[in-house]
Amino acid sequence: MIKQVGNTVIKLKHKASCHCGAVVLELDLPNGIENPRRCDCSICRRRGTIVASVKLSGIKIIKGTDTLRLYQFNTMTAKHYFCSVCGIYTHHQRRSNPKEYGYNVGCLEGVNPFLIENIPTNDGINHPSDRNKT
Ligand SMILES: [Zn+2]
Repeated sequence: MIKQVGNTVIKLKHKASCHCGAVVLELDLPNGIENPRRCDCSICRRRGTIVASVKLSGIKIIKGTDTLRLYQFNTMTAKHYFCSVCGIYTHHQRRSNPKEYGYNVGCLEGVNPFLIENIPTNDGINHPSDRNKT
């Protein structure tokens, strides 16, 4: 978990926004930024975002509920949300753990994700939900 990025201290309730500001979220981050990662699945490799985890109850949409759009594909399990004005991905309900949201670390107020070192890359090609299939 990461409690500070550059000069920005991660607050217990930290704001996140899309690029145009139409969508503003408040995230419960009592443990800071948890499990930051990249992923090489079909959507993440295009998106290029560093994603971290928060509980489903840990995201409150402060502004822009009507502006968010939902994108689903493949098994239609994960729910990917993005701003319909500026196109920025804000968060998604995870397929590998539907009790969590992933969120765009670059949307966190004051956080430059490029200052976070040693971010692991998930094996998204072999998605955990696709393993152990008989
Ligand atoms: Zn926007």
